[in-house]
Formats: sequence, structure tokens, C-alpha cells
Amino acid sequence: MANSKSSNFSVKRTVLVVDDEEINLEIMSTILEDSFNVLKASDGKEAIDILLKEEQKIDIVLLDIFMPMDGRDVLRVRQENKKLKRIPFIVCTSDKNIEEECFHLGVNDFIKKPYENPDIIVARIKRMIELYEDRSILKEVERDKLTNLYNIEFFKKYAKQFDDSFPNLPKDMLAISINRFRLITELYGRELADKLLIVVSNLLGQCILNRNGLLGKDTGSTFLIYCEHQDDYSELPGVLTRSLKEVSGDINVTFMIGVYPNVDPSIDKDIVVERTKATADTISNDFTKVVAIYNQENQEKTLHREELIDAFTQALEEEQFKLYFQPKYQIQCDKPFISSAEVLIRWISPKFGFVSPGEFINLFETNGLIGKLDAYIMKKSAEYMRSWKEKYGLEVPLSINLSRVDIYRPNLVEEIIGYVDSNDVSRDKYYIEITESAFVEDSESVVPIIEKIKENGFKIEIDDFGSGYSSFNSLADLPFDVLKIDMGFIRAMDRNPKVKGIIKMIINLAKAMDAITVAEGVETKEQYEFLKESGCDVIQGYYFSKPLPLNEFEELITKEMK
Ligand code: C2E
Ligand code: CA
Ligand code: CA
Repeated sequence: MANSKSSNFSVKRTVLVVDDEEINLEIMSTILEDSFNVLKASDGKEAIDILLKEEQKIDIVLLDIFMPMDGRDVLRVRQENKKLKRIPFIVCTSDKNIEEECFHLGVNDFIKKPYENPDIIVARIKRMIELYEDRSILKEVERDKLTNLYNIEFFKKYAKQFDDSFPNLPKDMLAISINRFRLITELYGRELADKLLIVVSNLLGQCILNRNGLLGKDTGSTFLIYCEHQDDYSELPGVLTRSLKEVSGDINVTFMIGVYPNVDPSIDKDIVVERTKATADTISNDFTKVVAIYNQENQEKTLHREELIDAFTQALEEEQFKLYFQPKYQIQCDKPFISSAEVLIRWISPKFGFVSPGEFINLFETNGLIGKLDAYIMKKSAEYMRSWKEKYGLEVPLSINLSRVDIYRPNLVEEIIGYVDSNDVSRDKYYIEITESAFVEDSESVVPIIEKIKENGFKIEIDDFGSGYSSFNSLADLPFDVLKIDMGFIRAMDRNPKVKGIIKMIINLAKAMDAITVAEGVETKEQYEFLKESGCDVIQGYYFSKPLPLNEFEELITKEMK
């Protein structure tokens, strides 16, 4: 292929000489022989036959005009044929008058008949081939084959040049993809899919025609636009979908469009393009939205969440998740003492540093990873309880948080029994904390499972009580041993004296149901004194202690529980 040859002429190029006069053919062959391979055709028709057959071989055509099939007809055929267009044509003529016409037919150069200086002729032909090869090499890598748009690499390069040329013009980056394009290709075939892409590229081309901007094509069905800023793109998808109807017929072609408005030109174009595409992706499952606008905060959050999910499996294997223990103090006696602790998980990651559960618990609940994490925590908790019993002779009750998602695991109860019994831990020292809202959301499934856990001898603690609005009469049906007053009440009681009344009421309610009350998030002496006075049994909070790492917790229990 001519394109793959280097343009320094180390390989002999091929010239097709077309002339109906034998003598002209001979003269030209003699001139060219040393420098080129020469093919000959004696009229337009023969020239076209050779061209169509050997297009790959031929690097340039020298064309006579007045022949049985006119040279101009050959030029017309060439104009219609993409492949032939990449071959330069030089017209050899003595007639000055037809030059202009030939130019319009796409001729690249002229050589005057009769032939004069052979060296000049050879040099001109060489230069023309060189020029064409450089151009077509560039064209080939610059453009997407199907749509003839800039490919992604060149798009980014020209986007940068666009910035340099118009430094003060605010600009937007857009990524436009066809929804379910893969499916369309599978269902309706490659041909229609290709056609769609070509039509979309033309439509988008029209969109930016009257504006400052450039259009490019990424892989798949994604197009990119970098153009002068516009406040609103909400019309764009409708325009595209409507204009496409002609090609797409019954197929409902819809788009997802990501817009990164007012791009900061100092940000690398790779990053800008990636962010814009990721923005478009955020609506791939949301059929109510067609245009998504890049927003740095959201984007960073999304990326960070994905990173956390990716890191999870290895983190669990490497025991990056650490159990912390927050002591709970009995207060209805002369001197408060530690009676138990809540297990709170911490992720200490070499990559992200300290990650708080507020950041990852919800995240892992949405993708099923929480099950693995909580299983690990339940197992570890039982193992620690065993080790404290063995090392210090202490049976320290622990409360383990169970995610609402865990409840639906088929063998949950058996699993818990397994962890606890195999470590020789008393089941009644093993507390399961489950948030009140889990009961409220789906009490029909949740209550029987919690009941089963309780029937097997474990203790149940209703967490965040008062935040989930379970009605008082349904409370009577809930299986539980401990009510944990929602931290929000403790926070609010300093601001609003009425809240104190509510707290008292919850404590009395629990007493009426033979349950123990725990207040969490207690930070001040005033809060502590009020709760003690109101009859609250247990307190957990910074007032006594923050959640502690293993070594500190062990130190504390050996000092205070013995
Ligand atoms: P939660 O179960 O309501 O846990 C109480 C949260 O309050 C803990 O936050 C604890 O560190 C914090 N806290 C304790 N005392 C005070 C205080 O005096 N003042 C203030 N401002 N905060 C206090 P943490 O550890 O960040 O946990 C947040 C939530 O993450 C927990 O809320 C729980 O829903 C979840 N979580 C933590 N560990 C686990 C776990 O092992 N499994 C599951 N499924 N969820 C967990
Ligand atoms: Ca809890
Ligand atoms: Ca809580």
C-alpha cells in the first residue's frame, strides 16, 4: 500500500501513464523508467480498468485528456471513488484552455506537452507523490474510518490548539453516546449501526457548523464536541432523536449526553474527556435523564466510591478492617462501671488512610459487600470474647451492628450460632444491634428473623430508637432486650427542654417492657446526670470513652473489670 511506504523513495513508486498516442507513451516511459515502475494505458477505459484492479499499486497517474474515452471522464470516475481519490493525477496537455476545467475535476498538477526537461518532470512527479503520501498518512491516523471525524487523539490535540487560538472564549466539552448501542448493533446488524453513526456524525457536524468548535469520535458510539460555551443543551437530544427517525425507523434511538461546562484550559484534555464521559455514564441507567452536567464534587465522590469498592476484597484479606470497642457504662449505682462494649468498625487503609464507617457502610450496603464485612466482624468479635475469657477470665458482652441488608441472608442465624458456639462464648453475652428503621421498613420479614435470633439465646438491641417512628403499639410486637435511645435526642435535649420529656418517656416505656435502656452519644456531665436521674441504665459516649482500638480496650477492661 502506498501509505505504508516511507516517503523517502527508497522503494520505486508506480506511475500509470495514460495516452492514446503510442509515441507519447514511449517518450514518457523512457523519461520515467529509471526512477519509477511504469504502467501504460492507451485510453480512458483501459486506465479505469487498471486503476480499479491495481489501485493499491499505483502511486500517481499521468493523464492525457483527448482520447477515445476522454481524460475528463476518468477524472469524474475518480471523484466518485474514495480509493482513487487518494491517488494524485497530473494532466499532460498542450491545451491551456482546459486547465481550469481540469482543476475543478480535482487534478493536482499539469505537465506541458510536448515534453521538455526530463529531470524536471521526474522531480515534479516525485514531489507530488511525496506530498500525497504525507497527506494520506496524516489523514488515515487523524480520522475515524467510518465517520471521517477526528479520532480521539487528534481531537484532544486540536482541542488544545483551539484553546490556544481562542484563549478567552469559554468552552464546553460534550460526550454524546447512543443508548444501548451494543444492543442495537446486535439486534439490527452492523450495517444499520454504522449508518446510525454516520448520520449522527453529520447531525452533530451541522450542530457545530455555525459555532466555534470541533467534533471528534471516540470508540463505540461516543462522539465528542469541544465548542464555545452554551448555557443550555436540553434541546440537543430531542433534535438528534427526531432527525434520526428517518434512518432508525421503529428503533427508538436515545442519547446520553455529558456536559463539562466552562472547561478550565489548564486541565489536561485527557482528564477533561474522561470526566465528561464519566458524567454521561452516570445517566446510563436513568431513562428519565438525557443530559448530565459535570460537577466536580459529585464526580470526585463517585470516583472515590468506586475506588473503595475496588479496594474492598484485598482490604478484607489483609485485615485492614479493625474492630474498635466503645465501652458502655452501667450508671444506676454509686460508681459507673463498664458492663459491655459496642463493636465499631474502622478501615485503616494504606492507600486512603483512615476511612470512617459513615463513608463505607452505606456504600457496601448498596452492593452486597456489607455481608462479607459483617460476617468478618461477627467472627472476629466472638474470637476476641474467647481470648479475653482465656487471657483474663473476663466475659465481656459485645454488641455487634447488623446491617439491614444482612437480615436477608438465608443462613444468617446458623452463621451467628456457628461463630459464637465454636468460640465457646455464652450466647447471652452476644448482642445484635439492629436499627429501628429496619423494622419499620419491612417488619414482616425482619421480625421473624430477629425473633429467631432471640429464641436461640442471643440478645437483641434496637438501635437509634425514636428515629424510625415505629408506633408504640407495634413496639409491643418487637422482639428485643435493649432499647438504644437515638443520639439525636441527646443532642436535642440541650436545645429543647421538651425533648427531656420524650427521653423520660422512652425510658419508662422500656421499663414497662422489661427492657434495658442505653443512651448513646453522651458527651457532657449535664447529659449524664439527667439520664441517671431519669432512670437510664447504661451510657455510651465520649463522656466516658471514645471507641478504642484493641490494645487500649484490653488495657481498660483488665484495669476496670477485674
Ligand atoms: P451507630 O451504630 O449508631 O454507632 C454510633 C456512632 O456514634 C459511632 O460512629 C460512634 O463512634 C459514634 N459515637 C459514639 N459516642 C459518641 C459521642 O459521644 N458523640 C458523637 N458525636 N458520636 C459518638 P461510627 O463508629 O462512625 O459509626 C457510624 C455508623 O456506622 C454506626 O452508627 C453504624 O450504623 C455503622 N457501623 C459502624 N460499625 C459497624 C459495623 O461493624 N457493622 C455495621 N453494619 N455497621 C457499622
Ligand atoms: Ca450501633
Ligand atoms: Ca446508634
